[in-house]
Amino acid sequence: MTAVKKALMITGIIEKNQTKITIQSMKTNNQWQQALATAVRDPLVLVDLLQLPPLPALSLAAAEQFSLLVPHSYLQRIRLGDWHDPLLRQVLPMSDELQLVDGFGIDPVGDSAAMVAEGVLHKYNSRVLLISTAACAIHCRYCFRRHFPYAEAQAGRDQWRVACDYLAAHPEVDEVILSGGDPLVLSDQRLQWLLQALAKQPHLQRIRIHTRLPIVLPERITEGLLQLLQQTSMPIVMVLHANHAQELDAVDVKQAIQALQLSGVLLLNQAVLLRGVNDSVAALRALSEELIAQRVLPYYLHLLDKVAGAAHFEVPEDEAQALMARLRAEVSGYLVPQLVKEVAYEASKTPVMPFG
Ligand SMILES: *Cc1c(COP(=O)(O)O)cnc(C)c1O
Ligand code: SF4
Repeated sequence: MTAVKKALMITGIIEKNQTKITIQSMKTNNQWQQALATAVRDPLVLVDLLQLPPLPALSLAAAEQFSLLVPHSYLQRIRLGDWHDPLLRQVLPMSDELQLVDGFGIDPVGDSAAMVAEGVLHKYNSRVLLISTAACAIHCRYCFRRHFPYAEAQAGRDQWRVACDYLAAHPEVDEVILSGGDPLVLSDQRLQWLLQALAKQPHLQRIRIHTRLPIVLPERITEGLLQLLQQTSMPIVMVLHANHAQELDAVDVKQAIQALQLSGVLLLNQAVLLRGVNDSVAALRALSEELIAQRVLPYYLHLLDKVAGAAHFEVPEDEAQALMARLRAEVSGYLVPQLVKEVAYEASKTPVMPFG
């Protein structure tokens, strides 16, 4: 063993490199695309794989409105035979979704009005959000974009050029948020084109990526993607989306998160407060603790957007405030995400204070 290697081992760097090498050899482009292609799309296959007993609330009609989609990696984190599993609840088409509930609509956050060009949302002064693709690797039943006109909002290169022209004309914008859908569903080639085009905008300081893929399809974090992120000349902030500690408790997820961190990406997490998933102090605490254990900072906890079909996930605001007050009394301040809601036409997300 060389002296250098020995020194590296002592400092722990070589251990990190070895993790990287494992990831390099494990994850190839082909594999993540295959994992996405073989994700579960049939509710009856899901029931079978998870060995679930019959449940009347399972609804094929709900799955027709918004299709089921769950990658196998995520499926492996769901407990067998348990309808109440917090991960299963996020993806399971339920008859509750078909009920019309007052106050729950199609575009609850005013996205249509904020669309300044195809696929470009400019709602908040300093940052612009790009709907970079319509596709996701998982379908979350509570998603506020479940009724969004994705086909119209899907950006191809021509639309990205339009988005870049818009940015060039708006020097007050210092950050671009790649969102969707999920931007990491794009191929490396398309992402590279987009990142390079954005990096040429002189007034941009950061690129932010809103993605659930490291959590739901960790195979996506390939060496090619990591290189691409490393090569981008601007700081990259990645906002993950995990709602429950159990979603983070998998070797492949931990490796994906670590690989992103070793590539210099700053990782934050946003979650949605969901009835039957994470609506307890214990669940919220466990989520924050697991995030910090993996060096990811809890950023936002969102109140549910009032989208038609998701009313059964709602936790009322006063209950949310009480939960946050109790969480704050239990843990370090940085383990407490900011509770926010999205009010259409406001200048930012709206903080919800612990006692109203
Ligand atoms: C949530 C959101 C952002 C980001 O808001 P931050 O408070 O900076 O995280 C930007 N644009 C749109 C359209 C959003 O919905
Ligand atoms: S990953 Fe995000 S955008 Fe996609 S369905 Fe889930 S919540 Fe919606």
